[in-house]
Amino acid sequence: MKRILTGDRPTGKLHIGHYVGSLTNRVRLQREYECYFIIADLHMLTTRPDKASIEEIGRNSRDIVLDYLAVGIDPAVSTIYLQSAVPEVYELNLIFEMLVTVPRLQRLPGLKDMARSAQLNEMPFGLLGYPILQSADILLPRAHLVPVGKDNEAHVEMTREIARRFNGQYDEVFPIPDVLVGDVPTLVGTDGGAKMSKSLDNTIFLSDPADVVERKVRGMYTDPNRVRADVPGTVEGNPVFVYHDVFNDNTVEVEDLKERYRAGRVGDVEVKEKLTRAMNAFLDPIRERRAAFAEEKGLVESIIFAGTQRMKEEARATLSEVRKAMGLAGVWNGIRRKAEKAAKISAKEH
Ligand code: ATP
Ligand code: MG
Repeated sequence: MKRILTGDRPTGKLHIGHYVGSLTNRVRLQREYECYFIIADLHMLTTRPDKASIEEIGRNSRDIVLDYLAVGIDPAVSTIYLQSAVPEVYELNLIFEMLVTVPRLQRLPGLKDMARSAQLNEMPFGLLGYPILQSADILLPRAHLVPVGKDNEAHVEMTREIARRFNGQYDEVFPIPDVLVGDVPTLVGTDGGAKMSKSLDNTIFLSDPADVVERKVRGMYTDPNRVRADVPGTVEGNPVFVYHDVFNDNTVEVEDLKERYRAGRVGDVEVKEKLTRAMNAFLDPIRERRAAFAEEKGLVESIIFAGTQRMKEEARATLSEVRKAMGLAGVWNGIRRKAEKAAKISAKEH
């Protein structure tokens, strides 16, 4: 069976952007592929290596896994694991670092934004290199497919380059993984910003209670030129209508709202009330399942523990292939053989 690798940084709860960008594809494909879902805590260290952030990994991981379970990821068929508990990824990361140039990394989009939003004046070495670590994540279980949001597309492209370079230079160890971007490649934020993102505070979390969703929708950015309900408005790119298109099943209602919006015959209040209703209808079953899973003591921890054990085996197998392909295993074995022989000879002599 072919494999999937994707995951999330344990920086907080998952939001509807994560859902449309990556989670839906994971749920849809989890029985067609052997899935590995990484809780990427080492990636969190690239912008937040402080002790206080590390202390939050446990709780955030728990939140992420509850979100996974709530949207339908099934730990009986999918492996969920903690990145930092599988040390082989550090080793593979270092090996891959030799196969990528600094200008290649500097050309990747989004890297400077990450440094800026983390309020870092200068680029830490680890942040510059995080796409390489991501390649190590993907290739550690030798994944074939990577379901991610648009912002990660360029990283998968670099992973393909690394896999090709490794296979060409040493031996065929890695598949060349394909990227799978969600139906909504990048979901806009509630503030109209290009991307919904925790750090921008423009999110609707999958676990937000109904009244919070209502408040967030009521405060959403719409067409700023529309000062009154009788002014014709723009639907295209308007976040309220983007969300209607994605989350409101009632297409007749959505088309009617759009028509009246364009003609200046509907107020923002009605458009938002109907969106709130649709969002909550979508989120209700997710919230219910999440609450039920949260009741089960030790469930999440058992899932992460078992998944990490499974991943450790895969990681050991891959690294053994990697060391063999590169000839590093041979160097060490040669030294060991000669040392053992010398030990035997000296044992005979004494
Ligand atoms: P945030 O910016 O909210 O902290 P993130 O991008 O740091 O989120 P990651 O853990 O890096 O979160 O991303 C998890 C997955 O969700 C990635 O595949 C990413 O592409 C996807 N994703 C995140 N935000 C969005 C969005 N607004 N639209 C579509 N996909 C998204
Ligand atoms: Mg990201």
